[in-house]
Amino acid sequence: MLSVLNPATEESIAELEQAGVEETDAAIARAKAAFPAWRKVAPTDRGRLLRRLATLVEENAEELARIESRNVGKPISGARAEIGMVAQVFHFYAGAVDKHYGEQIPVGGGVDLTFREPLGVVGLIVPWNFPLNIASWKIGPALACGNTVVLKPAELTPLSALRLGELVLEAGIPEGVVNVLVGKGSVVGARLVEHPDVAKIGFTGSTEVGRGVMAGAAATIKRVTLELGGKSANVVFADADLERTAAAAPYAVFDNAGQDCCARSRILVERGAYDRFLDLLVDATRGVKVGDPEDEATEMGPLISAAHREGVSSYVEGEPAFRGDTPDGPGFWFPCTIVEATNEDRVAREEVFGPVAAVIPFEDEADALRIANETPYGLSGSIWTRDGARALRVARGVEAGVLSVNSNSSVRVSTPFGGMKQSGFGRELGMQALEGYSEVKNVFISTEE
Ligand code: NAD
Repeated sequence: MLSVLNPATEESIAELEQAGVEETDAAIARAKAAFPAWRKVAPTDRGRLLRRLATLVEENAEELARIESRNVGKPISGARAEIGMVAQVFHFYAGAVDKHYGEQIPVGGGVDLTFREPLGVVGLIVPWNFPLNIASWKIGPALACGNTVVLKPAELTPLSALRLGELVLEAGIPEGVVNVLVGKGSVVGARLVEHPDVAKIGFTGSTEVGRGVMAGAAATIKRVTLELGGKSANVVFADADLERTAAAAPYAVFDNAGQDCCARSRILVERGAYDRFLDLLVDATRGVKVGDPEDEATEMGPLISAAHREGVSSYVEGEPAFRGDTPDGPGFWFPCTIVEATNEDRVAREEVFGPVAAVIPFEDEADALRIANETPYGLSGSIWTRDGARALRVARGVEAGVLSVNSNSSVRVSTPFGGMKQSGFGRELGMQALEGYSEVKNVFISTEE
């Protein structure tokens, strides 16, 4: 049995049976059986079903947000925003179903057509930090393109995916089109990766596990989309609006208790503004409200587990520039922490995945770019400056998939999201995600007599 915990109380909130290889094979077989009929559903009808699912997510938003908040320990206000995005994602792909199509290409001797074909059964493997949100980024485009799905949520956070499975059926999406399996990554995940009837793996998780998924997929030449870890830079030039930048910076690291692949956990600050910025950052971080996730005012909850907290603590050595408070009593709490570092320190090189910000000085634009790119990761990042040309130069120079200028936002429903380098490949969200869940087929028709 799998005991599902509330990280804020350390209490069990559910006891679940776990799927093994046999159940995984059965789910894949159900998805395979459902595929021929699902791919033939008229695009407008597929869109209508996805829209109904979006509406059901909206109607059940408070329940879903409470499930997510209790299971991940995330503040209820943030959980509500995430569930809002889940509904938006389904609305977006409901509208996209009949706007993603092939071409007619001019050739001699006939007519040449391209078609966007679904892949078949896709295995979707998601992490615990934004469980339903990240699942929706994959389910939306997968269903829009006519694929059927086996979804494996993370062991620690399966509850919202199970509830979504019920809403899928309530929406009228036929049985077998979406299958949700609770189970271990090493069992259910690995079986999805190796099974010959799974055409693609949409994976979000750590770079380490992603590497294994990619290697495993090679045996059956599976398509893979990999959304992996990050170590993003928040580059602050001296000419930036320092007050505004410092006020935003804590949320770019401490949001979701730092358990965010897009966390700007390396804050690079131009030498001339370094001391002033550090003071402002510490002041702003003092204001982050850490506590009971069910409290409407809470901005940061606990970490996901005791084991994860141990890993995060190992990155803080000596006296940090700032260490916040945490509630007494049970819960996997870890304080907001700011450390001064160089880019060579372990805290700046590895993905901490906790509320630890490393502040690093730089000398000039070239130095900023060098430090920002001195990492195997390439997911996101920010540039803060009042010089528009420099903002664009640096944004083009940073080796990452999702950049923002004078903002820390990375994720929007209609824009492509994904990494470079060891942060993975393939894009989610926006119309680009549809590329990853369809394949181009070319058909030539001779018009010769
Ligand atoms: P993880 O890699 O440990 O697990 C992710 C998923 O993979 C889970 O469902 C897990 O059960 C499954 N898994 C584990 N072993 C497997 C195997 N051998 N075969 C197949 N599947 C297996 O990651 P996590 O700890 O759940 O999540 C945190 C990581 O996810 C961080 O590194 C974070 O940066 C990353 N992440 C990336 C993005 C992104 O979009 N780039 C978004 C969120 C999280």
